[in-house]
Amino acid sequence: KSKAKKTSKQATRRIERAAVLGAGIMGGGIAYQSAYKGVPVVMKDIRQDALDLGMKEASKILGKLVERGRMDHKKMAQVLSSITPTLLDDAVKGVDIVVEAVVENPDVKAKVLAQMEDIVGPDAIIVSNTSTISIDRLAKSLRDPSRFCGMHFFNPVHKMPLVEIIRGEKTSDETVAAVVAYATQMGKTAIVVNDCPGFLVNRVLFPYLAGFSGLVEEGVDFTAIDKVMEREFGWPMGPAYLTDVVGIDTADYCTLVMAEGFPSRMPRDANGVIAKLAAAERLGQKNGKGFYNYG
Ligand code: NAD
Repeated sequence: KSKAKKTSKQATRRIERAAVLGAGIMGGGIAYQSAYKGVPVVMKDIRQDALDLGMKEASKILGKLVERGRMDHKKMAQVLSSITPTLLDDAVKGVDIVVEAVVENPDVKAKVLAQMEDIVGPDAIIVSNTSTISIDRLAKSLRDPSRFCGMHFFNPVHKMPLVEIIRGEKTSDETVAAVVAYATQMGKTAIVVNDCPGFLVNRVLFPYLAGFSGLVEEGVDFTAIDKVMEREFGWPMGPAYLTDVVGIDTADYCTLVMAEGFPSRMPRDANGVIAKLAAAERLGQKNGKGFYNYG
């Protein structure tokens, strides 16, 4: 009996309340998925319009479930009311986990993470949804890096099964176990990977996008590349459309991080056309114009 007690004491920590920093494409999706799977969430952004859009997207996904008869209105209202949109930093106090999902800029992330560590309790787990930035690099901004790791979701969050859990040099086993359990509770397939820029998926994806960008710089029509990769090569979408879905600004940041991390494997001008679109404020689907125009 006493043995059983001991085991339950050491059981993986359960996440009962979460916070997401950033209510954009990813933060909004992560907040929705957490709430949908029964873990209430505080969704924090610095812009009210981002919070409004995050809530609107959650309503849209839930509305479709109701339409298809897979959920009733009562449950929909319950899920929505378990997402608390806020502009206030202090609203994250007392949560079990903070998921950072702000812009893919290492300096902004470092600042946000350091500030969060001062606000959340000493036991809270802190994770970053960064696509490419090394977890050990981000961990330097925290006093206690043992409670920190990467938790990398994919877009769109409610549809994509994979979550990469990135173990940093100083991440504790308890942190990894709790984050794997939270990902599983969210209905996701968690894989634990070692740290490096881009982790597993984006180490494969960004050299591909750099190859695409190089072809466009050489004058090849991006719509032709999309057609070939999608229709004839059989991928679900071509690289130009994919970059629009990801967000041109995010793809630009990611490419720079990967080029810095793997200078011998990524071309120096890897972001070429992507940087030009970002400078022209063509950010992809999120603002209605990127490689393509969206109505
Ligand atoms: P996004 O531009 O859609 O959203 C970013 C949000 O962060 C904005 O709403 C912005 O107002 C907010 N923000 C900025 N500074 C903030 C702060 N200090 N506190 C709170 N909120 C702040 O970007 P996104 O696509 O959601 O990307 C967010 C993170 O997720 C990035 O690290 C990105 O690399 C990663 N990611 C993106 C994708 C993708 O396909 N877009 C996939 C996986 C991971």
